[in-house]
Amino acid sequence: LAKEKGKNTFCFYNVEMDNILQQRLEFESDLRKAIEKDQFVLYYQPIVNLEKMQLCGAEALIRWIHPQKGMIPPMSFIPIAEQTGLISQIGQWVLTKAIWDLKSIREVTNHNFYVSFNASLREFSSANFVDNVLYTIEALKADPTSLGIEITESVAMADPQNTIKSINTFKEKGIKVFLDDFGTGYSSLNYLKQLPIDVVKIDRSFIANMSTDIKEQRIAKSLIDLSHILDLKVVAEGIEDSQQAEILKSFDCDFGQGYLFGKPLPKDQFIELAKRF
Ligand code: C2E
Ligand code: MG
Ligand code: MG
Ligand code: MG
Repeated sequence: LAKEKGKNTFCFYNVEMDNILQQRLEFESDLRKAIEKDQFVLYYQPIVNLEKMQLCGAEALIRWIHPQKGMIPPMSFIPIAEQTGLISQIGQWVLTKAIWDLKSIREVTNHNFYVSFNASLREFSSANFVDNVLYTIEALKADPTSLGIEITESVAMADPQNTIKSINTFKEKGIKVFLDDFGTGYSSLNYLKQLPIDVVKIDRSFIANMSTDIKEQRIAKSLIDLSHILDLKVVAEGIEDSQQAEILKSFDCDFGQGYLFGKPLPKDQFIELAKRF
């Protein structure tokens, strides 16, 4: 009986494994098709100057419109795109689309308006990332000062010397570089002070409970002060209510992003929002 039970369990386990593997392979093949069939859309979320309450930029955020499953958020497919290497094609699509969209978005914004896009580890550390970005900007006759690249601390930490070199090249061309999700990684102060970035984006986990938790508030303030000591501008992510915005403004936080100012929107809706700003 024990033997039989063991056997059954083993079989059940096998089937389960098979299903997971099957689903994963299907997802990968769907993702590959998504690139061919152009199933991605770029959404834009406003970034505002907290003091002047002016729209100064937007973050480009990808979504996948799956023919059966509907909208799939980036966290559900970017990691798989990273593992399979499909990220390089997706990243190239994002950059090209963002540059293209910028032409019409900029018609309703001030001339300093920029769009930033996210680069994940495998993208940023690939040998031709810098050349690709510069080439695309040139080929599409884009203004490099209207573009920003967001990298996380873990991306920046993966290969410190190379990261510094890449960032310097971008900066020479006028492309902004943002350190995303600041505070959630493990970069040392020693490293941070060497990074030639322009802006840090304080992760929304520090903003979420700020209005009710005094310690969270002090952490947010110290992250802002630290950034300013290093001559970096600060964007606070995930601002959802005006109380958070007021506190951050009183801490001299430069910029804000979050549902309070606008959720990520498709290009046309973003343009409508930009007109009203
Ligand atoms: P991220 O770069 O930190 O982007 C900010 C995320 O916070 C976005 O989620 C945005 O929708 C969300 N968010 C903004 N304001 C608020 C708020 O007030 N409250 C809450 N609860 N959330 C807010 P999203 O669009 O799901 O993107 C998640 C992550 O996926 C991004 O985090 C980024 O790491 C990655 N990602 C998005 N687009 C791309 C892309 O084109 N390429 C790569 N490599 N990664 C991407
Ligand atoms: Mg980002
Ligand atoms: Mg972020
Ligand atoms: Mg994040």
